[in-house]
Amino acid sequence: MHLTVSGIVLRVRQSGDNDRLCTILTDTHGVIHAYAKGARSMKNKNTTATAQFVYGHFELFRRKEFYTIDESSYEDLFTGLREDIVRLSIAQYLCQLAMELVPDEQPAGDFLPLLRAALYYLSENARPPLLVKAAAELRMLSMAGYMPDLVMCAGCGAYEHDVMYFLPSTGQIRCGQCGVGGGESSFRLGRGAMTAMRHAIYAEQKKLFAFTLSEESLQQFSKASEAFVLAKLERNLTTLAFLHTML
Ligand SMILES: [Zn+2]
Repeated sequence: MHLTVSGIVLRVRQSGDNDRLCTILTDTHGVIHAYAKGARSMKNKNTTATAQFVYGHFELFRRKEFYTIDESSYEDLFTGLREDIVRLSIAQYLCQLAMELVPDEQPAGDFLPLLRAALYYLSENARPPLLVKAAAELRMLSMAGYMPDLVMCAGCGAYEHDVMYFLPSTGQIRCGQCGVGGGESSFRLGRGAMTAMRHAIYAEQKKLFAFTLSEESLQQFSKASEAFVLAKLERNLTTLAFLHTML
């Protein structure tokens, strides 16, 4: 069966001497694994578009659960990611997170435009890298069905407070007045970080990365978002562990 998809190459593995095995986040079939024959050779027609992070269009041939890439073309290469190891590592982490969260063989919905926008902002260095990371990871978890409840304090219903606490295990918030029980893991959020968390979940997707934060608020936002990822996945990801060797 032949089909044409658009997508982002999340991961590339060597296969045999000359082939690539690409994991691609596609618009119509979620995450798929597809062989690109001969793509490790620089002269091959599919070499450019089957590299990691490329957003492109792929003509596939499918036999049972195996895909091969017949033709490919690229739209975005995101070459700016190669300029900086931290931005590159965040891009790799978001790609691995997409592999974890996006269902196979189903339309990818908003996941694909979200990841494409995140790679763009990282590649162009157009937003603070940690802001892109935190907003994207929290949004992806929400889209995958793990939406935290950030509307109001779980204790008293307060919408705003100078200090709020985020509880990654339940995805709830509690205000400074109500506080947090002893022994429960929690993350302190000032008003800036609280607003950022809400924005990451409830804002229109096209405005997802369109905000600014002080350095202190960004650190709070980033730590709380990542703690939620780890609580929901219940394990670390290799790319996230690698990122932390550089932060
Ligand atoms: Zn409260």
